[in-house]
Amino acid sequence: MVNVISFKVEHQCPQCGAPIVLDEETRFFACEFCRVKSCICAQGFPRYMFARSSEAMSHPDAPEDAHLVFVPYWRFKGLCYTCTPAGMSHRFLDISALALERSFPGLPVSLGVRAQALPLKQITPKTSGRFLRPADMTRVLDQAQQRSFRMAGQTDTGFTEHIGETLSLIYAPFYRRSGRLVDAIVNRAVGPLAESNPGLNHLPDCRPEKQTRFVPGICPACGWDLEGASDSLILMCRNCRTLWKPGKQELARIDFRCARPGSKTDVMVPFWRIQARISGLPLSSMADLARLANLPRAILPEWEQQDLFFWAPAFKVRPRIFLGLASRLTLRQPDPDLDRQIHELTHVPVTLPIHEAVQSIRITLAGLAKPITERLPGLTDLKITPVRATLVYLAFEDQVHDYVHTGLKAGINKNALALASNL
Ligand SMILES: [Zn+2]
Ligand SMILES: [Zn+2]
Repeated sequence: MVNVISFKVEHQCPQCGAPIVLDEETRFFACEFCRVKSCICAQGFPRYMFARSSEAMSHPDAPEDAHLVFVPYWRFKGLCYTCTPAGMSHRFLDISALALERSFPGLPVSLGVRAQALPLKQITPKTSGRFLRPADMTRVLDQAQQRSFRMAGQTDTGFTEHIGETLSLIYAPFYRRSGRLVDAIVNRAVGPLAESNPGLNHLPDCRPEKQTRFVPGICPACGWDLEGASDSLILMCRNCRTLWKPGKQELARIDFRCARPGSKTDVMVPFWRIQARISGLPLSSMADLARLANLPRAILPEWEQQDLFFWAPAFKVRPRIFLGLASRLTLRQPDPDLDRQIHELTHVPVTLPIHEAVQSIRITLAGLAKPITERLPGLTDLKITPVRATLVYLAFEDQVHDYVHTGLKAGINKNALALASNL
């Protein structure tokens, strides 16, 4: 298991103003002081900064009125799947990269490990200092990723997808002291600022603050307390049986379907069922999928007319389990009776957004395609346009170690699910 690090972020309770520290993945929380539940609405990628600790500021070498320059870093954390002629592999990536057009003597090229010990803070309009404008994210992260691939000895043939990713912009403070650039967190000079190297003065700056928007964790339709895990992307009202998703500004009601549970102890497991237009490969019916997968059984004539749905877990879980479920369900095309009920049962939280489920389609197909060497060029050039996606809860039996769907011969290890909130 990879050593997954979650950053801590300082917030303020929107209700009572108390300082609260949350994991970066947290979207739904109860304030430990006033107990009021709130949801965090996401507006683009998060932007945070490392602040100087009081310890750093009281250091004998630290000037009291240091004029801080905040240097931007892009940070990517997520699962990276790579498909090559040799097959599929996955790696967990947690990388950060200096978000400037070029490097500067002394400026660290990444945030490094020490950053993990410091809490991140929100940047507010009151935060003083100069914030450098970040360079284009795609280019910066591509380079960082290629470095990390080269280290792993991977080749360029095939394709790569990121699933379950967190992208953020993180600022680290520096200042200048007698001609040298100083890391303001540890008060240590990191590089020269000679005449020939005018340093960071000539770079464009910006004000990156974006206020975190909180909305009350109550049902907009009936006022009941919403239910969810801290990293739930979708919250549930058990009173009026509705589901809500924090959007950019407020909670939006979302549609869903639910299979009928077989027993009162079943657990409802969420999946995204996606209809998509695929170009680059003939793939519009169940028969097309059977041909791609080179199924050993004969293709039934009715499969030529049968619409194809792509399935993906709507929760983060270890790659092997994720891909196993996605390919099994896509191959089996489950079609149970569905309604819009919310049953008095445990519901596994939705932690994987729809756009990431769409990104997983190519990976699922690569896992099913046989032989992969012949199919890889087609899969690499594939264009996937989602047409319709529905959140579907399927009923799984609650067994000792696993949730099991007998009809689909699918199982999810409970421990793996519990450990996945950090992925
Ligand atoms: Zn509070
Ligand atoms: Zn309600």
